Amino acid sequence: MADTEAYLEALPDAVVVVDADGTVAYANAAAERLARAGRDELAGQPLDSVLPLRDEAGSLWWACSARLRRLPGVRGVPLRELTLWAAGRSMPVDLSATFVRGADAAVVQAVCVLRDASARRRADANRGELISTLAHELRSPLTSVKGFTSTLLHRWDRFGDEQKRHMLTTINADADRVTRLIGELLDISRIEAGRLELQRQMIEVPRIARGVIGRFEQLHDGHAFRLSFPPDFPEVYADRDKVEQVLTNLVENAVKYSQGGTVAVRGEVTGDAVEVAVTDEGIGIPPDQVPLIFTKFYRRGGHGAPTGTGLGLFITRGLVEAHGGRVWARSEVDRGTEVRFRLPRGGLELAGIE
Ligand code: ADP
Repeated sequence: MADTEAYLEALPDAVVVVDADGTVAYANAAAERLARAGRDELAGQPLDSVLPLRDEAGSLWWACSARLRRLPGVRGVPLRELTLWAAGRSMPVDLSATFVRGADAAVVQAVCVLRDASARRRADANRGELISTLAHELRSPLTSVKGFTSTLLHRWDRFGDEQKRHMLTTINADADRVTRLIGELLDISRIEAGRLELQRQMIEVPRIARGVIGRFEQLHDGHAFRLSFPPDFPEVYADRDKVEQVLTNLVENAVKYSQGGTVAVRGEVTGDAVEVAVTDEGIGIPPDQVPLIFTKFYRRGGHGAPTGTGLGLFITRGLVEAHGGRVWARSEVDRGTEVRFRLPRGGLELAGIE
């Protein structure tokens, strides 16, 4: 029996045994933490005053569940979300209870298990927010696709070639935007579920960076592009496509958030890791917002530059961290930004295998 009580005390969930008259017969340590009460402060006190659990209507749970307890067939409460008021603060908790009945079927005691539900409620709220942001992000390009296609279908003869070309170009760009958004969402769901699969091999980061820069050079002649890697820059054990995706995101941002100037990709070797920095001479980011740029859907508006989906850097961080690396940024408003990532070199050579 002593052992059983030790187990109850060690349980992460709060356990409270309540007598038929509503007073607490036993409370484990987790229950005392939940109630913000000291050792043995709960036993002997009315549940509704030491652990006031209220339903949506604000009624106290023990008092208003009296009818339920009087119904002989009811064995307990499967799971209910209630609000606990303790030390002047409210907290969502999940309650489940079993009613212990005597020979006459009257409730002798109720064994209640309580669990802090704040984390779950926050996750639910985040999910809801994500869905509404997504719905909005998908709707705006689709509205233009739908609007222009139906205009073209109904009034084909009334438009000149130039106008039709303009509408089709917009449709084409918006369809690309939807496709890209869906691709990014798939990346995110893989990152968040920890299902990102890395195809690691020894890769040459300078070569990948040269390829990325080459593509941007052709499209953006208003910018100068520089590439510098030391000659002894080692091969890195990493996923080629993911590293290319990271570099593409960073160079794309550097170009997008600057009106010309130089975009540089520089590599450095630091012990058992390598670092790659992408710098620009663009609009920069105010210091208090720098940590936010790696969060989901964060976009900083109001600077005239067209922003994207706000997912690029979130994905970049996920991809780098999946390699055991890290990404961070330094920036000065109107001077420019440096986004830098570090990757462990890894690989057989470092593990001491020839
Ligand atoms: P987006 O699709 O909007 O570019 P990102 O996740 O790539 O989304 O970036 C998030 C935000 O961070 C951008 O909207 C922008 O405000 C800011 N940002 C990212 N890179 C830079 C940069 N090189 N210079 C200035 N601001 C940047």
